[in-house]
Amino acid sequence: MACDICGKRGTVLADLGQIYQTDDIKSICPECETAVNGKLSALQKWTSTLIRRLLKLFMRERATQAAKQGEQP
Ligand SMILES: [Zn+2]
Repeated sequence: MACDICGKRGTVLADLGQIYQTDDIKSICPECETAVNGKLSALQKWTSTLIRRLLKLFMRERATQAAKQGEQP
């Protein structure tokens, strides 16, 4: 069996979690696992920041709308 990303043979392979598997990538070597986990952490940090910013934007826009409606007779 070879790493599904880099093709390395004769190494331990870790099975990816099912939600991260693709049709071609299911088992990966320790080096690729480290790289993939690092990328996953970076992406999770980035999306977490994005979600916070988008939610704050939504709340500010909703507050602006509410204020406008409050101004109308
Ligand atoms: Zn690999």
